[in-house]
Amino acid sequence: MSLARIDPQIAGIILDEERRQCSSINLIASENYASLAVLEAQGSVLTNKYAEGYPGRRYYGGCRNADQAEEIALHRAKDLFGAEYANVQAYSGSIANMAAYTTLINYGDTILSMALDQGGHLTHGSPISFSGKLYRPVFYGLDRETGQIDYDEVERMAVKNMPRLIVVGSSSYPRILDYKRFRQIADRVNAGLLVDMAHEAGLIAAGVHPSPIPYADVATATTHKSLRGPRGGLILCRAKFGASIDRSVFPGLQGGPLMHVIAAKAVAFHEAKQPHFIAYQQAVVENARILADRLLAEGMHLVTGGTDNHRVLVDLTPTSITGKTAESALSQANIVVNKNAIPFDPRPPDLTSGIRLGTPALTSRGFGTEEMARIAQLIVRVLSHIGDEKLYREVRLEVEEMNRRFPTPGIDQ
Ligand SMILES: *Cc1c(COP(=O)(O)O)cnc(C)c1O
Repeated sequence: MSLARIDPQIAGIILDEERRQCSSINLIASENYASLAVLEAQGSVLTNKYAEGYPGRRYYGGCRNADQAEEIALHRAKDLFGAEYANVQAYSGSIANMAAYTTLINYGDTILSMALDQGGHLTHGSPISFSGKLYRPVFYGLDRETGQIDYDEVERMAVKNMPRLIVVGSSSYPRILDYKRFRQIADRVNAGLLVDMAHEAGLIAAGVHPSPIPYADVATATTHKSLRGPRGGLILCRAKFGASIDRSVFPGLQGGPLMHVIAAKAVAFHEAKQPHFIAYQQAVVENARILADRLLAEGMHLVTGGTDNHRVLVDLTPTSITGKTAESALSQANIVVNKNAIPFDPRPPDLTSGIRLGTPALTSRGFGTEEMARIAQLIVRVLSHIGDEKLYREVRLEVEEMNRRFPTPGIDQ
């Protein structure tokens, strides 16, 4: 391998990262393991090519292959989601959202979105993001009793604030989102509807979560979360917004597209059309359900009491452990999760009172319901023995045993 010869330092880091990915139980809800085919496309010579513009309308010569790769990616994206128009150039989910705002509203306009501390995203109007500085955000939260979205409350807030755009999407909400109801609310106040399906894109592509495409003016996604593709963004929209979305992405926000990543997105869309992808997403949801059930059976509390999708949000307040402590203890047992605010969290974001768990990554390795039940037990064992190094070691051995049985896609072992 030439990398190891030319730059042993970075080669060593990559090798160690391969080992880390193979030796831990990855429950980070926004991560996944891309296939070897996706990795190959992303690591290809397409990275050398400048292709500013769009297929057939480039600002550089020599774009024959870039054009074909992007055309195929666009065709597959539209086909996979049943969308009228697609743009595959956004470097990330955040840039995809920025392009959607630029197309749908003007600076200073009011947006109505889910509060960050209740499960929204930085790009949905946080004061530390462009979205909170350039637009005027108004936030809806979750119901204190149920932990779920109170759609009547969203409607009241929409009528009161008359937003130009309603933003739907979340990085920790464990329930189905009622896109139709959001559309009705948007229509009532004459607002646009942006659905950010960054997390659910894979579930939606496989039909195991309802699709926002019939209701959204623009839908944005990431390709690296449940969709299992390369790290990047995706924008789908009604045909009438297509030209404006394209202009917003380039030249509005970006320069040359990452053609190697676009080729890898095309591969991921192709993989997502295969029958095994539907079985995979069904397993993702089933695994999350079992994980939730078994955590409940072990006495843990969950926000909303369960899950409909790939995520489980554990409410640690009854245990008095912080999210930060839980994250760190579990990581010592090679179980990787992230601390996460729960609705109405009494603790600050660097501590939190929750952990977020997700099943897309483990399911890509073939983990099933039996393993989920075992993982739920291991999590509870660690959380009820904080500081017990001997127990962490015991759990780590069990984790190693499971890891040996389930090879990680895309990594030679
Ligand atoms: C992950 C995520 C994004 C942003 O994706 P990046 O590629 O990290 O910029 C946007 N919205 C939601 C809801 C997300 O979960």
